[in-house]
Amino acid sequence: MAETNPQKVFAPWEDPTAVPLIRFEAVTKKFGTFTAIDNLNLKIYRGEFFALLGPSGCGKTTLMRMLAGFETPSEGAIWLDGQNVAPIPPNKRPVNMMFQSYALFPHLSVWENIAFGLKRSDMPKDQIGERVQEMLRLTRLEQFAKRKPHQISGGQRQRVALARSLAKAPKLLLLDEPLGALDKKLRQETQFELMDIQEKTGTTFVIVTHDQEEAMTVATRVAVMDHGKLIQVATPAGIYETPNSVYVADFIGEVNIFEGAARRISDDMVEIDYAEGKAPLRAVTSEALAPAQKVFFAVRPEKILVSHQPPHERANEVKGKIVDIAYLGNISTYRVRLETGQMVSAQMTNAKRLARRDFTWEDEVWLSWTETAGVVLTR
Ligand code: ATP
Repeated sequence: MAETNPQKVFAPWEDPTAVPLIRFEAVTKKFGTFTAIDNLNLKIYRGEFFALLGPSGCGKTTLMRMLAGFETPSEGAIWLDGQNVAPIPPNKRPVNMMFQSYALFPHLSVWENIAFGLKRSDMPKDQIGERVQEMLRLTRLEQFAKRKPHQISGGQRQRVALARSLAKAPKLLLLDEPLGALDKKLRQETQFELMDIQEKTGTTFVIVTHDQEEAMTVATRVAVMDHGKLIQVATPAGIYETPNSVYVADFIGEVNIFEGAARRISDDMVEIDYAEGKAPLRAVTSEALAPAQKVFFAVRPEKILVSHQPPHERANEVKGKIVDIAYLGNISTYRVRLETGQMVSAQMTNAKRLARRDFTWEDEVWLSWTETAGVVLTR
C-alpha cells in the first residue's frame, strides 16, 4: 500500500455505497422574504476537505452557520452522522467552527487557550494535559506553550486557533477564511500545514474561502455557489478542466469564451461558427446538441499556443495582434486582439531569458489550440 497516494484513491463521492457524514436535504434558508439558500442538496464525506467558493453574498457563510447550529433551515433537513441536527444546539454538536479572527484569549497562554474547551468538558484533568500536549505536537507549537498570543507570530496564532478547535476531536471542523489574516507566502505554507493536519487527524474540514487558488490547493472537492445554489461540486481538477457552465469556468482561473452556433460533424466533434467569414472552430464534445445550438467554447489561456507562423497542424488557428503582455516571471500572458475584435489571452512559460523573448507588442501572431483543448458549454 505504501506506494499508493491516499489523496488519489480517496474518492468516496464516487462510491454509491459510501455513507456521507453530512447530508443537506432540500435545504432552504430564508431571511424574511430573501432566500439565502435555495433548495440545496449536498453530501460531504468523512475525511473530506471540502471548500465552498462563490462571490460575496452567495450563501457560503449561511451554509456553514447552519452546520454549526447558529442558523436553522427554513425548510429541509441537515443530517450529521446519521442524526437530524435541527434540534441539537451548537454546543452539543460534534462540530467546531474556527473564525477568521481566531478569537484567542489574550490573557491566557497558548497552553491554556488550547485547554480552555477541554476544561469545560467532562474530560478528566490528567487527560487534558495529555491532549493539549498532543495538539501542541500536531501543530508544532511545543516551544510556545507558555507564551501569550501577542508574543507569537500571526502564523503561530493561526496554529493555536487550529489546535484549540481540534482539541475536543470534533467530527467536523468548519473554517471560515482561516488564513485570511496571513500574508501570501505564509498563507501558502500554512495551506500545506492545514492539509497535513487534516490528514493526520482524519477530521472532516469544510472551509469557506475567497481565494480560488487556496480552495484548489487544499480541497478534495470544491463547491461553486451562486445565489444560494450549488452550481457545480467536483474535484479541483474537475472544476478546472470540465466546468459545467460559463459561470464556473469564469470563476476559477482565466478563460477565453468563443460563442457561436454548433454543428455536429461526427459522433464526438462539432464545428462552431463563431464569426462571419472565419473558418469554424473545432471541438470535441459528446454533449447532445440541437442543430445550430448556441454554445460557448471555453479555452484556458495556457492551452493556447502563440506563434509567428500558422502551425497548420492544429484544429483551431486564429490570427491577431498582441496588444498587451503581462510578464509574471515564470509565465507571460499575451492579450491578443483577433481580426474579429475579440480579445483572447494566451499564456506561455518563459523558458528563455527576457532579452531573447520571441514576442512583443504589436506583433502579428497566430493563436492555435487543439480540438480537445477546451470544453463546449451550453449555459
Ligand atoms: P461573503 O463572502 O461576503 O461572506 P457569503 O457567501 O458568506 O458572503 P452569506 O453571509 O451566507 O454570504 O449571506 C448570504 C445572503 O444572505 C447575503 O445576501 C446576506 O446579506 C444575507 N443574510 C445573511 N445573514 C442574514 C441575516 N441574519 N439577515 C438577513 N439577511 C442575511
